Amino acid sequence: MAQADSKAVAISPATVKVGFVGIGNMGAPMASHLIKAGWVVQVYDSDPGKSRKFVAAHGGSSAAGLAELARHSNVIITMLPDGHVVRQVVLGGAGGAGDCLAQSMAKGTAIIDMSSSSPVGTRVLGKDLAQRGMSLLDAPVSGGVKGAVAGSLAIIVGGDEELAKRCDPLLAPMGRRFYIGSLGSGHAAKVLNNYVSAAGLAAAGEAVIIARRFGIDAQTLINVINASTGRNNSTENKFAQFILNKKFNSGFALGLMAKDLALAMEVAEACGVPAELGHATLRLWQAAEAEVGGKADHTEIVKHLGDL
Ligand code: NAD
Repeated sequence: MAQADSKAVAISPATVKVGFVGIGNMGAPMASHLIKAGWVVQVYDSDPGKSRKFVAAHGGSSAAGLAELARHSNVIITMLPDGHVVRQVVLGGAGGAGDCLAQSMAKGTAIIDMSSSSPVGTRVLGKDLAQRGMSLLDAPVSGGVKGAVAGSLAIIVGGDEELAKRCDPLLAPMGRRFYIGSLGSGHAAKVLNNYVSAAGLAAAGEAVIIARRFGIDAQTLINVINASTGRNNSTENKFAQFILNKKFNSGFALGLMAKDLALAMEVAEACGVPAELGHATLRLWQAAEAEVGGKADHTEIVKHLGDL
């Protein structure tokens, strides 16, 4: 980064240029907030149409490839499907093959991975980058597409605390920041949150299906749950909005939720916790993914659970 030795100095649009990789459902609105806040942003997505559309709508510039983006940037944000893609984007394929950031990243560059990546893989990537004189923060987000568009995401930051403080002005336009601890802790907290969220959505889906068979109207049951102790984020913000009206357009794919659950169970295993409910929830979501498809909206899990 531009001021690698003056640790206390926070970065600003005057001192760093930003690269943003992954302009998807979440990345596009997040990067747009950075441009609105005055940061100099260059974007890259493996789908060139997305980069073109983004620049036409929000400004900034787009890179033709990852090495080009790395030459432009002192700080690089990744918002990609998972940690495997992040690792490949940063270090290239086997033996560093293919276009990647490492080909032209300067020493001192900081990468902020805002994807929901493997906490274990993030620690490995952090060590690999440190050997090259580069640093990594994990800063996954919660709040969905709605929160990304509103700039009101919860951003869970892990890694070197001093670096997190210095990068805070860059994260601020996208939402509220919570510093949680060492590298990988943000990713761990994020996937554990999604485990709880996935279990809550599936439990409420089963409850609605059972209630309907018993002769209770689905929306009436959701209203009752929302006034009672069973309420959760899905009963409050997903059933009326995306499920009972059959819109299924929350913007978060079922395959990404199943991936987060698998990562949560990877952390459980690494910590020696049996997590029986977690494994049952993972099996359920993986079966739904096989039946309904990973690209389906995650709210479509109800199609796997039964007839609504
Ligand atoms: P998305 O599929 O809409 O976006 C991912 C983008 O990455 C796509 O535009 C894709 O073209 C691009 N991409 C894939 N491989 C690439 C590569 N090798 N190089 C460059 N670009 C590449 O997904 P999303 O919903 O924006 O989710 C992104 C991340 O955020 C995921 O880790 C997800 O789990 C997490 N997340 C999503 C939500 C949500 O509600 N959608 C909420 C919180 C966290």
